[in-house]
Amino acid sequence: MTNGIGAAPGPGHACGVFGVFGVDHPERVCYIALYALQHRGQQGAGIAVGDGDDIRYKKDTGLLTEVFHDDSAFNALSGGQAGIGHVRYCPDSEAHAANTQPFVVTQRMGRIGVAHNGKLLNASALRREMEDSGAVFQTSVDAEPIAGMIARNMGLVRDIGQAVESTVKRLSGAFALTILTPDALVGVRDPYGISPLCIGALDDGYCLASESCALDAVGARFLRDVEPGEIVVVNKTGMYSRKVRGPGGGMCAFEYVYFARPDSVIDGVSVHRARMDAGRALASVLPVDADLVTGVPDSAIPAALGYAEASGIPFGAVLCKNRYIGRALIEPDQTVRSMNVSIKLNALRASVQGKRIVLVDDSIVRGNTSVYITGMLKRMGAREVHMRISSPPVVHFCPYGIDAHNEAHLVCRAHDCEYIKRTIGADSLAFIGLDALEESIRGPGCSGNCLGCFSGRYPVDPSPRGTSTGGTRT
Ligand code: 5GP
Ligand code: MG
Repeated sequence: MTNGIGAAPGPGHACGVFGVFGVDHPERVCYIALYALQHRGQQGAGIAVGDGDDIRYKKDTGLLTEVFHDDSAFNALSGGQAGIGHVRYCPDSEAHAANTQPFVVTQRMGRIGVAHNGKLLNASALRREMEDSGAVFQTSVDAEPIAGMIARNMGLVRDIGQAVESTVKRLSGAFALTILTPDALVGVRDPYGISPLCIGALDDGYCLASESCALDAVGARFLRDVEPGEIVVVNKTGMYSRKVRGPGGGMCAFEYVYFARPDSVIDGVSVHRARMDAGRALASVLPVDADLVTGVPDSAIPAALGYAEASGIPFGAVLCKNRYIGRALIEPDQTVRSMNVSIKLNALRASVQGKRIVLVDDSIVRGNTSVYITGMLKRMGAREVHMRISSPPVVHFCPYGIDAHNEAHLVCRAHDCEYIKRTIGADSLAFIGLDALEESIRGPGCSGNCLGCFSGRYPVDPSPRGTSTGGTRT
């Protein structure tokens, strides 16, 4: 790839967290739920189980099925009544077993496990403060200082709800946490609600998950989203909630654009419906005559369907995605990098030849995907390729750790639409406007969204940038 639309390590992702209380086989329930959340991270997976007295856990790098590949892993975790789990996204350089989660610490009141999705803005400052009073850290993940602070507070107040509350008051940034003690489960969402977390009910218990698709997978009934700034405690007496401070208004818009599964409902908004609506709105931006509309699987298919419906141009299946690609492959050089994309996506030549195609994708981050797909369609004989993007240009960094949104790699930050259109080889290129995207993700339970990667306006002021760890979102 040339002309500034460069190849770089694969884009970032969000992690997935889960928690359950009041079931016979929490390790199995966590496993099934994490399976449904695997799209949120493929670099590590782990499950911790509480049995009333102690916490046992297993975690490692790799896909969930690689970490839990036979019965011995489950047998070692059996006999509990509660559990938490985590699937991890991180850059390859951070993919060590020590950095996988849940992160479990031991203190005199017993063990505490923490699973974190998000990224703290003040992790460096918290680590420094804790180191000054004697703490020693072994990993680079935010879950470690969080677990350390909860453990310390637990020693003081001896109540997990209170210990978590005192801890959360010190945290700044994006976090959805599931926390386990031997006899309780706690869920927390940051005060702006940047990272998603919802609650489900089981026959005799409750569960917490990053996305509602995980509740569906374990047969839980969706109760509600955890509110921004809310702490939910579940123990054998039931569930209660305490509130820290929650202005809300910060749910990450990129969850609707790309991260979440379409069958999830986040803050009252169906991800599929939001993507369809964005596609419908996109159809009125730079309308074009074409023979068919198609989408880049999987995340852009609903937007392409919405576009087709609104424009009256028929939807056609054009791109085939290989389902058996798990983690991003190690990409030693440019030749292998291009092969990586070509094993992931291919096109139906017969549907492409001689056609004028509207190609809908959900986002342009670095531009690699658009260059590849447009080039492939043209080589296969497409007469015209009109690229349409169902999110606005990503032009700002993400302080909450979506590492793909690193300003140095953002092609739309460096170049204008005309230049990008020419470089990707499309006949035209257009993006949905910010207002239309915002409109598409509006819903009854939503108090507003973080659109910072598009607009540069963030719910928590990320400056001074020195407060950030430089670490990655988990
Ligand atoms: P690009 O090739 O422009 O860098 O990335 C855009 C493509 O990657 C889109 O097809 C979109 O679905 C996907 N994408 C957008 N953001 C992310 C991300 O943060 N992580 C991953 N893995 N893919 C992303
Ligand atoms: Mg995509």
